[in-house]
Amino acid sequence: MPVLVMKFGGTSVATLDRIRRAAKRVGVEVAKGYDVIVIVSAMSGETNKLVGFVNETSPLFDAREYDAVVSSGENVTAGLMALTLQEMDIPARSWQGWQVPVRTTSAHSAARIEEIPNDNINAKFAEGMRVAVVAGFQGISPEGRITTLGRGGSDTTAVAFAAAFNAERCDIYTDVDGVYTTDPRVSAKARKLDKIAFEEMLELASLGAKVLQTRSVELAMRYNVKLRVLSSFGEQSDDAGTLVCDEEEIMENRPVSGIAFSREEAKMTLVSVADRPGIAAAIFGPLSDAGVNVDMIIQNIAEAGRTDMTFSCPNDQVLRAEKALSEAKERGEINYKELIADKDVAKISAVGIGMRSQSGVAAKMFKTLSAEGINIKVIATSEIKISVLIDRKYMELAVQALHDAFELEKD
Ligand code: ASP
Ligand code: MG
Repeated sequence: MPVLVMKFGGTSVATLDRIRRAAKRVGVEVAKGYDVIVIVSAMSGETNKLVGFVNETSPLFDAREYDAVVSSGENVTAGLMALTLQEMDIPARSWQGWQVPVRTTSAHSAARIEEIPNDNINAKFAEGMRVAVVAGFQGISPEGRITTLGRGGSDTTAVAFAAAFNAERCDIYTDVDGVYTTDPRVSAKARKLDKIAFEEMLELASLGAKVLQTRSVELAMRYNVKLRVLSSFGEQSDDAGTLVCDEEEIMENRPVSGIAFSREEAKMTLVSVADRPGIAAAIFGPLSDAGVNVDMIIQNIAEAGRTDMTFSCPNDQVLRAEKALSEAKERGEINYKELIADKDVAKISAVGIGMRSQSGVAAKMFKTLSAEGINIKVIATSEIKISVLIDRKYMELAVQALHDAFELEKD
């Protein structure tokens, strides 16, 4: 029988009543003839609570025990979902990650899935079981310890199962009814997309659109898993939600598909560093060793052998960046006059695969911002993305203006 993966996020399993509603949706697919693998998150708020317990008990915690604690929320919902399905006379059984087993690396709290053997679950399907309920977000390390996949990791569990079981589709049930051209809370004109290409979704996810864990989109792209995002509260039909798919399946060719933004950026400027071969390596090597995720970089024109170097990184990594750079300075590897951190910035990005074949997108973006009197502080581009750093107070205005300029409200 064909296999379908259905993943239910925290809000979709937040109460026993919602678990029943989700189970009914599973029942509909079972009745169509699918064997279903259900991946569940913890009840909403549960993982945060568990993370809080760990931090309070041990601020510099042992990551193995962090994983032992925070993985437990999913165990509860997996068992409850299996029981609920059984109450509906649907043969169901639950699995924790280690029982499958979901084999991962030993990078605790940020493990990657290496392998999911499908024989255990397939044997049960062959015996007549119709639904395997699997606790998302968790696995087992080569050392035999419980691991977790990073926050939002149940999405990645779902896609990995869809790949391992050659599922027809992977449906991600969440509290929004799909992927939007931008956040509807910022622009009332935001429109739900029927389809979006893997690469666009990857950019949007990594830019902070929190619908899907970035890693899950990478996996879906690699294994060509048909991924659908839909609401567990809306209607249940085969064309509900947004399909994340190969770009070949998308006919329309707009230059821009979505506007993403992030308030959690900071702009760092190293004033007056020596303009010499190796300076970039001397600056960004220690930053990378310290785990700072540098995104945009600009090096200014040099004067008298000195230059300014500006880069952006997440706000909560500013302290780490300052420490890494001042240590490099003490070691004599770099020399700078001043390090200025500007935390009042936001990153706005226009994303679209159509950019590859259409010119003028960047010019239009800059013109639109200038017409609103918004100053651009840093620019970065890739093949399908243009990002700018601006003052945070203009973020909403910029998003709305760009959404209008690229006519994203139009179908
Ligand atoms: N419960 C985990 C979290 O809150 C994993 C997930 O829901 O995807 O991050
Ligand atoms: Mg999530």
